[in-house]
Amino acid sequence: MNGVRKICVAFDLDDTLFKEREYVKTGWRAVAEAYAHVTHMTAEELYELMSTAPDAFDALLALPEIQRAHIQIADFLTVYRAHRPTLTLPADTETALRQLTERGAAVAIITDGRTLTQRNKIEALGLDKLIPAENILISEEVGSDKLTPGPFECLMRRQPADRYYMVGDNPIKDFYHPNLLGWTSIMLRDRAGINVPSQSLDDKEPDYWPQIFIDNLTQLTELCLPL
Ligand SMILES: [Mg+2]
Repeated sequence: MNGVRKICVAFDLDDTLFKEREYVKTGWRAVAEAYAHVTHMTAEELYELMSTAPDAFDALLALPEIQRAHIQIADFLTVYRAHRPTLTLPADTETALRQLTERGAAVAIITDGRTLTQRNKIEALGLDKLIPAENILISEEVGSDKLTPGPFECLMRRQPADRYYMVGDNPIKDFYHPNLLGWTSIMLRDRAGINVPSQSLDDKEPDYWPQIFIDNLTQLTELCLPL
């Protein structure tokens, strides 16, 4: 060894590497396009209906034509979960991943969800070009989710390092097991208030709290790899 310490920085996907709201919108568009022909409305009108309703799928289910066609919420969910989204990787995310990689850190994704859904997001964002395939851990593939130590221990086996960081948005599951495993946990704050899950720490035990807060992923390079 040359004395260089290997760093591994793992990221949550939704509301960390990109805003999940963007995926929700493109999913609604796919559903609107798939079912507009059943209704008297255009796909654009259906999308508007979904975007402005308290619950997007309930609004569709209330349409008489949808009811007459015996279409169920499960039909919408199938289209939503399988659709190939159109997503843009935020510039800050790309900068952070490139800088960390250039300075020798290993980068990884640890995400909970279905393989099909999460893979479609990862490919649409181009994250498969920036993160090695073996470092992309999806709960359905790993066989355990972030409410257990499973995916974190899996990464430690696949990617040996001297120090691990977990960067996430969700205090329910992104920091607890990393904290117990001796990782450094970092929360990307939702300044705009547009995340899907809440970031409230008020009702959480200290083990669920992140050790560090950041407002932008580009802060990570200095934080994890100070020159
Ligand atoms: Mg998340």
